[in-house]
Amino acid sequence: MKDIRNMTHEQITELVVSLGEKAFRSKQIYEWVTKGVSSFDEMTNVSSQLREKLSTVCILDNYKIIEAIKAKDGTIKFLGALRDGNVVESVFMTYKHGHSACISTQVGCKMKCSFCASTLSGVVRSLTAGEYLGQIYALQKYTGERINNVVLMGSGEPLDNYDESAKCIKMATDPQGLNLSVRSITLSTCGLVPEIYKLADEKFGITLAISLHNPFQEEREEIMPITKRYGIKELLKAVDYYIEQTGRRVTFEYALIDGINDSLIHAGQLGVLLKGKLVHVNLIPVNAVKEKDFKPTQIDKINRFKNELLDKYHINTTVRRELGSDINAACGQLRNSKILKGEF
Ligand code: SAH
Repeated sequence: MKDIRNMTHEQITELVVSLGEKAFRSKQIYEWVTKGVSSFDEMTNVSSQLREKLSTVCILDNYKIIEAIKAKDGTIKFLGALRDGNVVESVFMTYKHGHSACISTQVGCKMKCSFCASTLSGVVRSLTAGEYLGQIYALQKYTGERINNVVLMGSGEPLDNYDESAKCIKMATDPQGLNLSVRSITLSTCGLVPEIYKLADEKFGITLAISLHNPFQEEREEIMPITKRYGIKELLKAVDYYIEQTGRRVTFEYALIDGINDSLIHAGQLGVLLKGKLVHVNLIPVNAVKEKDFKPTQIDKINRFKNELLDKYHINTTVRRELGSDINAACGQLRNSKILKGEF
């Protein structure tokens, strides 16, 4: 049976009409879905007859929150179960300009970045657009806050699940649904070049974030194996194309790992690669992952790296505020700790 969260407003209308009901009922149903209800019975202004009919043709799936861990800064990390029992993580964050949800796109990940916890046990499956949205609905319901920024930056590689990611973007920006602005949606990728071109051609105008983490081809290959398939030069050409097609500034994520990618030589090469482009660099001290042996760069060295980019290359660079660092907010960490304990 179909998951109703995967259906657009129009598709719900078609369904309702096919069940012999008035088209306008779909608006009420759609509203309930976006409010994150977990059963048709919660749709109190929909007749019990229609609720009954709906439950025979589709399922109302939900992201079932198993654990919510709140950090001192208000960040909440969620672990939730999908219908098939798989678990993924989502994070709720509060910024000056509102609330953000960081959502997962796959159960696990197959990209094998050496510093990332999500990839430790490979990919189990990709999520549907309904499951992406379900995380947002559930976080809104739990916190009682409206989420106005969404980042596809939880576990998984969103461009390895292109169609569902694109569908989620379309559905999340529906004025009758979550009504997010395209600009407030960020998709983060380790660099799947053909899909970056595809995304550029769709001209959604979302923010693209590239997880770069190293400006040298051979060194990046070591920490991010995807670089062997799509080299840095090719990746940057795709980014140029994205900027050309959308006019949007692209973000480069750079997690600083002590003694690995944080020297001034790295900063200089990054500067050479990005100088003059419509980009922004986000520096992040890498989150320690229990299973891996590396440490974050200290703040004075981060600032030196930042100033090199700013002063010498005039590249817009910020150090990302570390949210939720006391609660293992780095992707995949919470799920892993549970898997290791044999809970899932
Ligand atoms: N697959 C996508 C999105 C998920 S990862 C991507 O690669 O962009 C989300 C971000 O977290 C990426 O920038 C990723 O490189 C980063 N990341 C993964 N592990 C991290 C860690 N231990 N510390 C800091 N950032 C990490």
